Amino acid sequence: MSKKLELHIGELRCDVPGCGYQTDYAETWETIADCIGRPCPKCGASLLTAEDYATMMMLYGVSMCSGDAPEHAERVTGTIEMNGTGEAVITPTFGPGQ
Ligand SMILES: [Zn+2]
Repeated sequence: MSKKLELHIGELRCDVPGCGYQTDYAETWETIADCIGRPCPKCGASLLTAEDYATMMMLYGVSMCSGDAPEHAERVTGTIEMNGTGEAVITPTFGPGQ
């Protein structure tokens, strides 16, 4: 049974305009804290700020408290983008295969 709200961590992307660096692997909830302050190998900026980490942990806490989804509930997916300030932009994705 799945939760009403499930969060998965994707690749980390450098927030510096024009850098474009992105990891080629996804972090996990167990390893993400180790990424705070990790320097971008391309430009040296932090790949994960403490502010974004705090937002991630708040969202993770909400997902853990969300309860189980009904068996035939409609599924909506989306992305959460952050830019180092702790602000999160949530964009839902609708369509087949979601
Ligand atoms: Zn960078």
